[in-house]
Amino acid sequence: MTLSLIPLGVGDAFSALHYSACLALQAEGKWLLVDCPHPIRKMLRENGRRAGAPNLDVGSFEGLVLTHLHADHASGIEGWGFFHHFVLRRRAIVLTHPWVARDLWPGLAPSMGVLARGPERTKTAYKEEDFFEVRTFVDQTTLGPFTIRCRTTWHHIPTVALRIEAGGRTLGYSADTAFDPSLIEWLSDADLIVHETNLGGAHTPYEKLASLDPELRARMRLIAFPDSFDRDASVIAPLVEGERVTL
Ligand SMILES: [Zn+2]
Repeated sequence: MTLSLIPLGVGDAFSALHYSACLALQAEGKWLLVDCPHPIRKMLRENGRRAGAPNLDVGSFEGLVLTHLHADHASGIEGWGFFHHFVLRRRAIVLTHPWVARDLWPGLAPSMGVLARGPERTKTAYKEEDFFEVRTFVDQTTLGPFTIRCRTTWHHIPTVALRIEAGGRTLGYSADTAFDPSLIEWLSDADLIVHETNLGGAHTPYEKLASLDPELRARMRLIAFPDSFDRDASVIAPLVEGERVTL
């Protein structure tokens, strides 16, 4: 049994080089998506093929774990919900903290809540539960082989970091956060820690991570970095879109 991941996007909200932060996790033949930026199907197709999973698509996933609602992490959710409803004909399972869930449907309702359908353009009302099965959790939940824990981070809007266990291995993901030693401690015993680094007070400066204990740094990979980030000079390896990382 193993836990592995494919980075589907590694860039930040302003990137002209990369898709934005998104991970596909696999354990026991099951897939879990962590965040869902647009264009998620193109990200799945291109990076699934690079990573040796050529059939990876929306229908491959047990569900989606959502860290927060900034567009570089969540702009694909509208399409994710429509694809589940109209193509797969089942609801999309979304796992997230209640503070994130609270704002999910109000943000989606203007483009999903009333649809004009058929030749008469009959206005049809849709509810969140027509598209999504939102399962909130404040501490721990499970989905298929995955045990998922969350912890709120220091960011502009409600955001959760994650610890995801499967196959006896643990992935820690900072999500978006200011540098927070207590969060690093919470993530520190994971087999692999995916940590963001970017500019500004609600993100984590590279220098803070580079000064961490070398043993901890060695288990860390970077994500959501700006295009200007010097990947070759980094003492912590940045994730690469379409690689397969086995924990
Ligand atoms: Zn953010």
